[in-house]
Amino acid sequence: MTDEILRVALDTPLRRTFDYLRDENSPAGLAGQRVRVPFGRREKIGFIVSIETHSEIEKPKLKRISSYIDDQPTFDPALLSLLRWAADYYHHPLGEVIATALPKLVREGAPLQERRFVWTLTPTGRAALDAGEPKRARQQRALLERLANPEAGVAEEELADWPRWRDHARSLRERGWVLRQERESHSDDAVSAGAEPWSNDLPNDAAVVTPEPTADQQAALDTVIASGDTGYRAWLLHGITGSGKTEVYLRLTERQLRAGRRVLILVPEIGLTPQLVGRFAKRFAGTPLAVLHSGLTDTQRLEAWRRTHDGSARLVLGTRSAVFAPIPDLGLIVVDEEHDASFKQQEGGFRYSARDLALVRAQQLDIPIVLGSATPSLESLHNVSLGRYHRLSLPRRAANAQPPTLRLIDLRAEHVHAGLSTTAATSIEKHLANQGQVLVYINRRGYAPTLACTACGWVAPCLSCDARLTVYRQASRLRCHHCGADRELPRQCPQCGYAVKTVGQGTERIEESLSETFEGVGIARLDRDVVRRQDELEAVVSRIASGDARILVGTQMIAKGHDFPDVTLVVVLNADQGLFSTDFRAAERLAQTIVQVAGRAGRGDRRGEVLIQTEYPEHPLLRGLLEGGYEAFASAALAEREAAAWPPFARLAALRASALQADWATDFLAAARRAAPKANVRLLGPAPAAMAKRAGRFHAQLLVESADRAALHRFLDRWVPAVEALPEVRRVRWALDVDPLELF
Ligand code: ADP
Ligand code: ZN
Ligand code: ZN
Repeated sequence: MTDEILRVALDTPLRRTFDYLRDENSPAGLAGQRVRVPFGRREKIGFIVSIETHSEIEKPKLKRISSYIDDQPTFDPALLSLLRWAADYYHHPLGEVIATALPKLVREGAPLQERRFVWTLTPTGRAALDAGEPKRARQQRALLERLANPEAGVAEEELADWPRWRDHARSLRERGWVLRQERESHSDDAVSAGAEPWSNDLPNDAAVVTPEPTADQQAALDTVIASGDTGYRAWLLHGITGSGKTEVYLRLTERQLRAGRRVLILVPEIGLTPQLVGRFAKRFAGTPLAVLHSGLTDTQRLEAWRRTHDGSARLVLGTRSAVFAPIPDLGLIVVDEEHDASFKQQEGGFRYSARDLALVRAQQLDIPIVLGSATPSLESLHNVSLGRYHRLSLPRRAANAQPPTLRLIDLRAEHVHAGLSTTAATSIEKHLANQGQVLVYINRRGYAPTLACTACGWVAPCLSCDARLTVYRQASRLRCHHCGADRELPRQCPQCGYAVKTVGQGTERIEESLSETFEGVGIARLDRDVVRRQDELEAVVSRIASGDARILVGTQMIAKGHDFPDVTLVVVLNADQGLFSTDFRAAERLAQTIVQVAGRAGRGDRRGEVLIQTEYPEHPLLRGLLEGGYEAFASAALAEREAAAWPPFARLAALRASALQADWATDFLAAARRAAPKANVRLLGPAPAAMAKRAGRFHAQLLVESADRAALHRFLDRWVPAVEALPEVRRVRWALDVDPLELF
């Protein structure tokens, strides 16, 4: 036999696959298929990654698989090759990469398809029915009649309303009159039920409002369509806020759906708003859609994943990990707000970028991909200038809305009360009087970032982190945003007994002071403390949309994708934190946030106004943004990156480590540095993190930089196994972060 060796990936930190023999009596394995295999003294679930004829291990020593879990693969060869690519590029064990790509319940062996059962009559059951049996049990008789039609059987879910049907069915089964049988898959049902091919179901009725594309939208659509509905091409849809990027996604999606292909839309973590899902669901009413995000329970996630796997979902909307959704006949990928940091997994071992993997997936499948943003990442803009992506521009707002006017407020020259300047307060009053709504952005949640003693200078510290505790006044707690520590809010200084006071402002404080200033005006707050779940976000969004709330105070969350036409004023309370950060990406993030928040203003008929409070009104970043907009900022920032040889003009990888003692982390990294093979790369560090102590562990990093991507990866190929073999590895937790987004 030539196909008897199954190469299996297992969810272990070991960087290798495992060879097994297949059971002679079962069919040949398929790549992507789940298997149970003996592993040590236990059994593990793994995935066949290839079928081989030879193994490096002698045949008598090879173990046999225990069983196939399914008779079909969990992922197709295309998805398997994406997973392999990711394992190579991020230098991470394939078994763990596969585990990340799948819902927990699939990893644990849940059936790939929902098990559905139908009840049918046996020949004796039919005879009994014809004979009018059972004569004395009226309800059993009624159920028998119900199950007789159609002949193919009645699905259990159709019986849900039937009173006590399970009891009656059991009695009928005991008499041998009915059978309970498992039915195959969903998609087969649709076909056997004689449903029309879904693509003809796309609504054309007038109830669905489909706006005529603007000239800019039409030009973008024409360009994409002219280059073909298939074939790899990366488009950067650079459209200002309110330019109607979503309408372009909708139209391109519609084309693919009509051609019988499926579409994947990736959105940032919090961008998956009810508004966006609602727009797709409405436009494609009747088209089965699956939504995958981190707020789902394991069962919901399994259910949504199954609908992508069996092909019943034609349209898949999801956050980061949805890039791994198994989607047959995928025709188009859209990455909305491609600059958003939430596309990069920044925790755990496997730190991938969903945006970058989406590009690889599109390339491997030879299909188009659209990256959209009002504030594209510098990487993507650079890729446009290299000719790797093609730019589509939407330089004007749709529906005649004008871009907002931006103005800086010099905090040094103003009277400021609880973080709000007089100019800003007066403007808020004016906009409210004109029936406008107001957004107030502040990048801090909680009541105040600091609690301090009025006498001795004590400030409330987190005992596990190099950080202060944030004051939560309503809850009367002190909390750490880094480790989750949560304590009673003290009334007096624990050191000297004097009074304590809060210093600075967070969203809760701003909400409080605004409600004092603007009595009777509805105020809503949006930050991670308020919205922990999707439905809570929905509640806040609908308070704004309905006009019940007229002022919205919040963090970055208010910047993402919302379309509130009555918002005419946006106030940025303090933009200064990002101006002097040591992280080379801080300026880019600040510019993106300002432009995105500002973009919430004036999306309706009335022109918007944006006020940015700062103590540094002369700062070149702010001046540049005001005078030249995001594009001017981006080209200046790219020039700086080039001069400093930072990405995208160089490639980075960060080896990160944390340990219970500070020197364990740095010793490990120093040893890693010594173990580095000679190569055309630069090593920087080890250096402790800016916030070295977090949740009781000490963090440090070693950076690897190279102008040449291939050289960097050749280096990592040789270096990572050496790092893993270091004796110091036992005292640390470590991770390799390829293309790190945040350097600490
Ligand atoms: P973006 O995502 O680019 O910020 P949106 O897609 O949210 O912009 O669109 C902004 C607003 O313009 C929305 O209210 C949308 O309904 C409207 N809009 C988009 N395209 C058109 C169009 N062609 N005609 C009329 N209104 C449009
Ligand atoms: Zn004190
Ligand atoms: Zn802490």
